[in-house]
Amino acid sequence: MVITIVGGGATALAFLYNYIASVPSGQQPETTVYLVEKRGVFGPGAAYARDVSSNLLNTKTGFITPFHDRPGDFYNWLRENEWAWWRNFPAFDLHPDSYAPRPLFGMYLQAKMAWMVKHALTVNVRIIQVDAEVNDIAMVGNSCVARTNCSLTLTSDHVFLCCGTLPAKPAAFAGEVGRILPSPYPVAELPHRIAPDANVGIVGARLSCIDAVIGLVESGHRGPIAIHSRSGYFPCVRGTQGRIVPKFLEQGHLEALVRQKGRLRLTDIVDLVRQEIAHATQGDLPRDMPLPPAPPKDLAAYLEQEIELARSPRPWQAVLYSTNAVIDQLWMALRDSDKGLFLSDYFSAFMSYRVSIPTENAARILRYLKSGQLSFHAGEFAIEADGDGKPVIRTSSQAALGYDYLINATGSPRATKRLESTLLANLLQRGMAVEHPLGGIAVDRHNYEVIGRFPGKTRLHAMGELTTGTFFFTSALDINARHARNCATAFAASVFRQDSVGMEQAAAAG
Ligand SMILES: Cc1cc2nc3c(=O)[nH]c(=O)nc-3n(C[C@H](O)[C@H](O)[C@H](O)COP(=O)(O)OP(=O)(O)OC[C@H]3O[C@@H](n4cnc5c(N)ncnc54)[C@H](O)[C@@H]3O)c2cc1C
Repeated sequence: MVITIVGGGATALAFLYNYIASVPSGQQPETTVYLVEKRGVFGPGAAYARDVSSNLLNTKTGFITPFHDRPGDFYNWLRENEWAWWRNFPAFDLHPDSYAPRPLFGMYLQAKMAWMVKHALTVNVRIIQVDAEVNDIAMVGNSCVARTNCSLTLTSDHVFLCCGTLPAKPAAFAGEVGRILPSPYPVAELPHRIAPDANVGIVGARLSCIDAVIGLVESGHRGPIAIHSRSGYFPCVRGTQGRIVPKFLEQGHLEALVRQKGRLRLTDIVDLVRQEIAHATQGDLPRDMPLPPAPPKDLAAYLEQEIELARSPRPWQAVLYSTNAVIDQLWMALRDSDKGLFLSDYFSAFMSYRVSIPTENAARILRYLKSGQLSFHAGEFAIEADGDGKPVIRTSSQAALGYDYLINATGSPRATKRLESTLLANLLQRGMAVEHPLGGIAVDRHNYEVIGRFPGKTRLHAMGELTTGTFFFTSALDINARHARNCATAFAASVFRQDSVGMEQAAAAG
């Protein structure tokens, strides 16, 4: 059997780990896996690529792991391999509760991928790492034929898309080329593209904006920086709480609720969250989290208060985090009309509360705000060009704010047509994949097979950010690792069931 995996990040690693664990010891068919990664580095992916060490993980060192049955694997690796990383990350305080630099986690993933390549050989699986970009996939008979940017043709029986967070297509801009940066990454490059005294605008106020602001200032940027957020929300600050075992937001309770009520409303889910928070706080709803929360009016005052609150446990954060285990179940239980309402009206608020930042990064942002170097602007705007070709933000009150450079830090769009990927464009055009109305491409939620325009099996599967319309929240490592595990075990079950049926038929015929 031959398999092609497109993308060599954390999701691909989790998929391989679980697939290899599912190969029955009695049957180890010779298998070749082409692992195709356009960055040429296998393991870190885009999320944990080499970059500045101020890009922090948003999950604690002791918790984050791509392997469901190896809790603390990252922390253990750091302890055992200090000699390999400390020179590059001398300021990192190794502790299970610390937030490690993402590139350090990338180093770990790279080491684990190298281990995986060796380990796979013990079950007759040969992983061939291919440094290329897959630009197209077509079905030829029962085979999937993948074509790369360097004219390689890879023929396989099955393809798994683990393409991760794809960049947005650059927005049309009438001004000078290079004045709008389509993404802040790699942050290490920003000082080479932006002069230290330049006036910089950043569009978006989530984690990639925070990476960009901190990366710029810490590398010596002296000019003013302005954040523009359409929603006005800003991430909250992570408290000192640990994790909880949910009582209401768990599979059995949700199944019973759906049996009783049918498809849920948003208000049902808000009630569940409230019940869970009340349970976690022994009856008290937290004073720091009204539902739905309003965006902050004054970011500095908000961060001061958040930093203060984050000195103590914030059980509601543990509750929101615990939804990771059932987030797709919640999403599928929700009525379609409420899914649309949630995405249009509440998604920004949800993200600002669900994806929190460590105190050290909040304190830096607060310091820059207080020094006057950083400002925050909430509200709708349009991007225009001035007479010199520089970007101008035109606010809804018609104020014109001019910048030397604008950085787009809004992340990956949900709509597939707005993603910059030749492969996706070709898959959609061929009808091998169709857009999901709520984002990404449509997949079967049980076996992760990509749903195409034509009936029948496509032999194409997808995991991770591309499946956001089906599974909703696909922006956390543990969630994508869980999907990779489900996909790998469903796939292995189908392959080895077929094999054993074939062997039984051959034995009966013989
Ligand atoms: C900047 C950033 C920071 C994040 N931080 C965290 C965090 O702290 N904690 C957390 O839990 N989650 C975080 N996430 C969420 C992240 O999406 C998940 O952790 C996810 O599991 C990452 O793994 P991945 O393999 O799905 O995607 P990626 O890391 O995006 O890897 C996908 C890989 O596919 C490659 N690729 C794409 N298309 C092709 C092609 N056509 N041909 C060849 N190669 C291709 C890309 O080059 C990339 O290396 C972050 C995401 C981003 C973008």
